[in-house]
Order: sequence, then structure tokens, then C-alpha cells
Amino acid sequence: MKYKNKQLTTENTNFQSLAKKFGTPAYCYSYSKLKENINNFKENFKSFSPLICFSVKSNTNLNIIKEIKKFGLGADVVSKGELMLALKAGVNPSKIVFSGVGKTYEEISFAIEKKILLINAESKSEIQEINKIAKQKKKIVKVGIRLNPNTDAKTLKQISTGKSENKFGVNSKKFYELVKYCENSKNISLECLSVHIGSQILDHKPYERMLKAVSNIINKTNYKFKFVDLGGGMGISYSDKIKKLNYKKYNSAIKNFLKKHDTKIIFEPGRSIIGNTGTLISKIIYIKDGGAKKFIILDAAMNDLMRPALYGAVHKILPVNKSNNVSKNIYEFVGPICESTDKFVTLKKFQKLKEKDFIAICDVGAYGMSLSSNYNLRPKPVELLVKGRTIKIIKNRQKHTDLI
Ligand SMILES: *Cc1c(COP(=O)(O)O)cnc(C)c1O
Repeated sequence: MKYKNKQLTTENTNFQSLAKKFGTPAYCYSYSKLKENINNFKENFKSFSPLICFSVKSNTNLNIIKEIKKFGLGADVVSKGELMLALKAGVNPSKIVFSGVGKTYEEISFAIEKKILLINAESKSEIQEINKIAKQKKKIVKVGIRLNPNTDAKTLKQISTGKSENKFGVNSKKFYELVKYCENSKNISLECLSVHIGSQILDHKPYERMLKAVSNIINKTNYKFKFVDLGGGMGISYSDKIKKLNYKKYNSAIKNFLKKHDTKIIFEPGRSIIGNTGTLISKIIYIKDGGAKKFIILDAAMNDLMRPALYGAVHKILPVNKSNNVSKNIYEFVGPICESTDKFVTLKKFQKLKEKDFIAICDVGAYGMSLSSNYNLRPKPVELLVKGRTIKIIKNRQKHTDLI
């Protein structure tokens, strides 16, 4: 995104014209950014050509999954709905992995019928259930066991998943037991060890510690895993000040790991593929004087973008039309929803804004639309894909009649 003649643009399309044509709030994705992210991701790990399974929960738009699939990526799904979506997008079942702590009988049956690559199990009960269903269907099902490596991902506590207090995976002691259990289960073929320690990780050291834990456990179990699934979690820069994840160091740690273990690496990235491709365009409905600060009341709210209200995430906000007039006021950007947590950010310095101006909330491609809701009975926004000169509606704006 850049300013051209003071107008914020993406791929030569300016957001003002998009806002006027398609209305607001609107999610807008850049195809060229998506392509760049995927190519960079592949390049970073090209020496061992991993299987890259896009984490569908980060963005559940069918057209986005279709575009990602065209680059040869698979899918990481966490529900029957996401599995159906990935299949509908044309993702090859042999590139789909299924994660999650609470897969139901129906979900496991469906996954077995669709012959996906792996079901990554997270408990003994789940393995028992998979074995039972596989036996009924007279099939042998390929599974992974998710290890909880008790590694601090050094990210927000709400999006950490690899510590012993988190519900995900099993500890190393349990892991040995489950490897034995799988070996004695006739309808299960154990092929994978999986881990995923959290999201928005910017330091490579937690990944190094995670690899060490995985390496130790493989040595102790002395079991030959066809796949090691390292999950996702690679962080992105939500502000100009944030340092970037050192992919070189993560890559060399994995290469060292592969010297000792002959296995195929799987990744499940979500945010790092789609996060910075998306922008939420919004219009200022009112500006309200709140004494010490001014409330910039937007037509986008926490139901459209939940991350700030859910875990205090901060997204950069940019004016769609740039000016040199700096405001003397503190601005608090809020939505119309009847919750005090319905606010995006408070800024001491911003250009002077007026009612009906448009603003852009940046880096909302991951966990933006996929976490949206109809709270306050608000219809969900339109989603647009900008690809060179073409702008495609990839999801229509909901109508009130859809909801009532
Ligand atoms: C959410 C999730 C991911 C993706 O995480 P990102 O931070 O978006 O890369 C990958 N694997 C599992 C099991 C997940 O739950």
C-alpha cells in the first residue's frame, strides 16, 4: 500500500474509489501481496521443500483458498466446515491435515471418507475414537500425535498453545504411551509428530527450543515418523517498530534437525501468508467530543474485526486521503457496538479528520473476517480481491434480510 497523489492505494487502485463503489465497511485483499508472501515462504525453506498447509481458520474465504491452492499449498483445517471448504476450493485431500482438540465422531468419519493426509490427534480418547471408526469402516487411518513441548512461544498469552497449562497436545510422558498405543491399534498408522506452540511469534528462539524438544522425544521413542508437522505461528509486523522473525535462523535450525532425523516437514502457516494482504476500509460516521479525547466513531466495529477487543491487538490505522493538517486532539477510534471494548486504538498524533472521511485499518487479512460475527445484528462486510486492474467481489455484503 502506498500514497499516490495523497490517496492511499493498493495495486494502483485507490481505497476511496473502492469505498464509494462497494460501500463500507469493506475488507479488501491484495493478490500481489498474497503471491509475494507465498513465494517468500517457499523461498525461506526451499532446501527441504516442506509441505505447506495453509491454516484455513485464519481466512475462510473460498476464493482466497482457491487462489492459495493454485500455488500448490495444502490446507490445515480444524473443523468439518473448514474441511468442506478446503475440498470445495479444490485442495487435494492428500495435502490436508486436520488439527484440533475436540473432533467429533461425525468430523472424524468425514475426514476418513475424504482420505485426507493426516488426522493430528490430541488425546488418547481421540485416538481410540479414530481407531473405532476406522475399524467400522474397515480402513487404516493415517494419524499424527500432537506434542505439547512445554515451550513458551513468547507471544500474547491468549494465543500461546505450547505450554503445559494449555489444552493442546499431550506431554512427553503421555506421548510415549500414545506411540505404543498407536502401534497396538490395528486400524491406525502413526505417521506424524505435530507441534504448534502459538501464533504471532517473532523470536526464532522458541522455535529452536521446540525443535530440541521434538528431537529429544523422537530419539527416546525411537519411532520413525514419516512427517514432522511444525505448525505455523510465524509473526508479522503490525507496526513499523516491531522486529521481524528471523527466517534464516529458523530455517537453519530445521536443517540441523533434519541432519539427525530423516523426515518430511509440514508447515501450517496462516497469518504469515494472509495477514498483511488485507485492509478494512471504514467511514467515519460521527466525531464526538469526549473532553480529553475525541471519539472517531467508525462504521466498522468489533463484530467486523474482533482482534483488538479479544486480545488487545493493535492495528495500524491510515487515512485514505492524506493531508498535512495534524490534529491537536487525542483520537480514539471506536465502533458503534454497545460494548466498551468496541474500540480499535487511541492515538495521540494523527492527521485532522472530519465526519464522512474514510480510514484504512491495516493487516487484517488473518483472523479478521474469519473471526467476525453478527453481534448487534450487524450484517458482515463485503470482501474484495484486488488483482492488478480487476476488482472481484469475493463475498457479498450480508443483507439485513439474511439475518432476520
Ligand atoms: C491456528 C493454527 C495454525 C496457524 O497459526 P498462524 O499463527 O496463523 O500461522 C497452525 N496450526 C494450528 C494447529 C493452529 O491451531
